[in-house]
Amino acid sequence: MSRIDKIDLNARNLGSQLRKTARRGAAPSDGLQQKNFGEKPPSPADISKDPELMKLFSQRGLVGWLEDKIKRASRHKGYIIPAEDITAMAMPHIPGKQDGNKVFLGTEFVRKNQSNPDLIAGVLAHEWGHLISDFLIGRNAEDMDWGRINELRREEESYADAYAGRLLYLIGHKPDDLIKHLAAHECCSPKYFNFETRKAIILTAFNEQIRRQETAARIFAPNGGSHPLGSRLIAEV
Ligand SMILES: [Zn+2]
Repeated sequence: MSRIDKIDLNARNLGSQLRKTARRGAAPSDGLQQKNFGEKPPSPADISKDPELMKLFSQRGLVGWLEDKIKRASRHKGYIIPAEDITAMAMPHIPGKQDGNKVFLGTEFVRKNQSNPDLIAGVLAHEWGHLISDFLIGRNAEDMDWGRINELRREEESYADAYAGRLLYLIGHKPDDLIKHLAAHECCSPKYFNFETRKAIILTAFNEQIRRQETAARIFAPNGGSHPLGSRLIAEV
């Protein structure tokens, strides 16, 4: 069984080329007032009077189905909370500081894209990467200048993108719609690498996961035949 919580970030180290494309040292442009690594959590949405959203977010609905697959593949228990006015945002758990393990998922984003499970899976997989990451533990933004903060945030976002690439393969979704979404919403935040870099990270991680599965398949079924043990192990990954 492969765990991807300790991902070896090949994708994070795509080379100095990636570093050069980063926007360095810019002042925050995404509403941050205080020195901080994240944004303020959004307001949870009350969906109890909206039958369509109740169904989508239910255990048997689209979000519940994706959540279940993600929890199994990542072996990390997070909670999805319907939220207002966002696409998605992760609130990782920080022992002693923040009760997290939550992913806020925008209700209108889900409603609008309910016929596109690959996109919703991609967004959730990225946010799950933030839950898994230990990036925030022991770091204090107050001690750093904005250049350093933005550098660390880009690194964290790259980690989440790489994680998303791998996780998408494991849960049987393609990364194409996540990538299209990023292209359409590329913005000016210094916390992200540019679109081409993010696309490269996601695709590299996705393809790396394919390569791993193929290697596992060859080990368990060297002649191309089906080995009962191998089939089961691969199916469980
Ligand atoms: Zn992110």
